[in-house]
Amino acid sequence: MENIENIVTNQRAYFLSEATKPIDFRVRQLKKLKNVLKAHEQEMIEGIALDFKKSEFDTYVNELSLLYSDIDEAISKIKCWTKVKRVSTNLVNFPAKSYIIPEPMGVSLIIGAWNYPYQLSFAPMIPAIAAGCTVVLKPSELPANTSRIMAKIINENFASQYIAVIEGGIPETKELLEQKFDKIFFTGSVPVGRIVYQAAAKHLTPVTLELGGKSPAFITEKCNMKMAVKRLVWAKFLNSGQTCIAPDYILVHRSVKQQFLDTLLAEIKANEFSFEAGTYVQIINDRNLERIAGLIDPAKVYYGGKIDRENRYIEPTIMTNVDFNDKVMQEEIFGPILPVIEYDNLSHAIGWVKERPRPLSCYVYTEDKTIKNRVLKEVSFGGGAVNDSVMHITNPHLPFGGAGESGIGSYHGDTGFKAFTHYKSILDKPTWIEFNLKYYPHTPFKLKWIKKLLS
Ligand code: NAD
Repeated sequence: MENIENIVTNQRAYFLSEATKPIDFRVRQLKKLKNVLKAHEQEMIEGIALDFKKSEFDTYVNELSLLYSDIDEAISKIKCWTKVKRVSTNLVNFPAKSYIIPEPMGVSLIIGAWNYPYQLSFAPMIPAIAAGCTVVLKPSELPANTSRIMAKIINENFASQYIAVIEGGIPETKELLEQKFDKIFFTGSVPVGRIVYQAAAKHLTPVTLELGGKSPAFITEKCNMKMAVKRLVWAKFLNSGQTCIAPDYILVHRSVKQQFLDTLLAEIKANEFSFEAGTYVQIINDRNLERIAGLIDPAKVYYGGKIDRENRYIEPTIMTNVDFNDKVMQEEIFGPILPVIEYDNLSHAIGWVKERPRPLSCYVYTEDKTIKNRVLKEVSFGGGAVNDSVMHITNPHLPFGGAGESGIGSYHGDTGFKAFTHYKSILDKPTWIEFNLKYYPHTPFKLKWIKKLLS
């Protein structure tokens, strides 16, 4: 592999050559990407299973199929996204035309997270290609097999002056961040997001930061409990809780707390989460296993709590009588622990969320319009769902991103295209006429007319 500096220099030269701009070039590359992914589907499925025992079903449904539909969406919408947009012109500029030209930002850097390694690395690459950028992709090093496979299949099929995958951990990412990019798209934790943002500031590079946080789920006194719990359990224990938008903790109304816990227990037991059944994945590594294990307070475990270090397994665990001072409430859990906090008064529960960093997601389970509207109106968060969790990410028409500390910017569908696009504003004026009001000398007569026209 060439060194990092060379790759970025060559990508800049390639971008400046205009090669990536024609729409038919972009469409060809998107089709090629889909073909490459399809051709290596089995290898990708086997690689991720080796890394953390993710099943074929999970990998296809939660990673690959989403990529295929993103590519199809980009191909079908690219003409519309790249259209020059006419806008109206103000009186002062009569008789000019005004329009906005979408242009690719240029050489982009995409840094992926490990929890959905294919999805989080390739999903931003699709809008980058559609927008006409070149791409340097740095997947997470933690799932070593998926990182190796992504590097292999992309580097074998695309020229590094256009798309290059660079494998590595912190030293390689640091070296990448020293280069000048025209766009940085980062998915990962809040602390590393700050490092990326600081590095981007040096070159004034625009960023999208897809970060994390503690996403609450409200279980209210008027909800369809059976349906709420069914959806919630799927969303929480998917990927063994290692999902950025998983419900992190529950805020349950005191009047339905016991009903909620009974239903929750029955649903968890009915799911029989296990590696063998393909319904559970390993914790990604020992360090994360110890971190998650350290969040469990045995005195507050209502269900679960078993840990098998050899197999990197943590049982689905419910903690009750939790308050915001508990360790489990001090950081994003990112694992299969569900703390339950009860409330009497919705205003208090909303207040607890509002006085903390804005979550990436928020979920409200209710049949009551007033409760729904209060949560949606009063709580600020990246995105979320009513009577569901996680599924909002699957709709490409909903921009996906954080708010406040949970992220900057968003993507998916046309929002993804916008993340890699600069919108160039043009005032286009003919030369057959010119009004002299703005020119010197500035006379009282001219001022009178200006005041008439611009009052
Ligand atoms: P991470 O921040 O540890 O790593 C992300 C990337 O940054 C990796 O490619 C890693 O190699 C690199 N990196 C790590 N430390 C670095 C450093 N000191 N300097 C430079 N680069 C560094 O995050 P992670 O553990 O891969 O993922 C978990 C986090 O990501 C959670 O907080 C989760 O909520 C968040 N996440 C967010 C989204 C989203 O779409 N918003 C999706 C998935 C994960």
